[in-house]
Amino acid sequence: MAEKACKGCRYVTIEGTACVACGSTDLTEKWNNYVYIEDPEKSEIAKSIGAKAPGKYALNIKM
Ligand SMILES: [Zn+2]
Repeated sequence: MAEKACKGCRYVTIEGTACVACGSTDLTEKWNNYVYIEDPEKSEIAKSIGAKAPGKYALNIKM
């Protein structure tokens, strides 16, 4: 099963149809490049993309 990125918060969800981070069901398989955020509190990238939960975030999402 393909990994899907959330269009709302960029979180990459491995299974299921809803985003684990924000609950949105607006997911897409059309994304590439990701960053893994371990500690959103200490990550500058997390702040710049608004990530609040640890996990994989897509950097490029086709809207
Ligand atoms: Zn989301």
